[in-house]
Amino acid sequence: MTSSEQRLAEIRGGVPPRRHNARTIAALTGNPGCSRRAVLDGAGVDKTGLAERIGFPARFGQSRFAITRGNAFEAQVKADGGVELLRLVAERLGVEPGDRADWTDLGAADDLPERHARSRELLTTAVPTGPHQPAALFDHPLLSLEVAGRRVHLEPDLVAARLAGRFHVVEIKSFPVIDGQADPAKVSAAATQSAVYVLALRELLAAAGHDPELVSHDVVLICPRDFANQPVASLLDVRKQLLVLRRQLARMDRLDDLLSAVPADFTADLTTDPATLTAALARVEARYAPECLASCELAYFCRHEARDHTGAMGRPVREALGGLGTVAEVVALASGERAPEPEQAEAAALLRAAARLRADALGAPA
Ligand code: SF4
Repeated sequence: MTSSEQRLAEIRGGVPPRRHNARTIAALTGNPGCSRRAVLDGAGVDKTGLAERIGFPARFGQSRFAITRGNAFEAQVKADGGVELLRLVAERLGVEPGDRADWTDLGAADDLPERHARSRELLTTAVPTGPHQPAALFDHPLLSLEVAGRRVHLEPDLVAARLAGRFHVVEIKSFPVIDGQADPAKVSAAATQSAVYVLALRELLAAAGHDPELVSHDVVLICPRDFANQPVASLLDVRKQLLVLRRQLARMDRLDDLLSAVPADFTADLTTDPATLTAALARVEARYAPECLASCELAYFCRHEARDHTGAMGRPVREALGGLGTVAEVVALASGERAPEPEQAEAAALLRAAARLRADALGAPA
């Protein structure tokens, strides 16, 4: 173990690091400028446990009902050896599905190393070599990716090979597409999660000596259409997500850089008392933004901490306020209590005007 790894182990109190999955890896890209998150994720700290310990439990995650509904929709889409699934994917890619496709279920075994080895063997032998090969569909193959020096196993819903001459990651989600539109936040999360699988599949092919670009950057997303359970496929171009993901994973690999952002005695050991943990967290720079609420377990703590800062209301609000950092500054400039610095003159004039308009509207003195 290197000294950096040793230090990260001390930060989490000597317990084994928390395992990442595609969702948590995708979430790493949600706020790439936040040192607090990078250090905690790099060390593999149990952020859910940490948030609970300091009195700000996380409040996100899928309900049991949503998980059950998602599993039922996935089973429906994959029924009959994937016949309908093959038709949907081929149609979306603009190719003929062919008479048949080879269907391989790689999700059954509990033994992860064995599943991973079998997935690697079958996926690498499915590389297209000619125009008349049947498509091959791999149900729940087990891929892997290195995150902060640790191998993480990943399980895409499906990988389609030999359609349009390439591999395609297929994600099946139960959120609906209504009148051709799905919830943009959910589509964006699905794209980032799928990019994790694309990256892992490209690494797997490259390690076997194949061209990683055989894995398409177009992911096939399958969702229920309107309010029925009729599946509909769409394509997501994940090139942008791949760039951000690569950058953030490279950052997580530089353990020394991560550690330079924290004081020497920083701890996230869950056996430590809450006041000490809170004080330790406060000494590591964070960049709270409203988006954290959907992607980071510490969001309620960081939002509470940032409550006096304009950034807590989101970048558009902060920019509309002329980049002023705190609510107290905004109020002082708007009321004229404080003279602005030269670079704040324009923002101060706008704030004064807004305060006057508000006072006029309320019939009160500005
Ligand atoms: S919630 Fe806090 S730790 Fe998490 S990404 Fe946002 S600012 Fe960083």
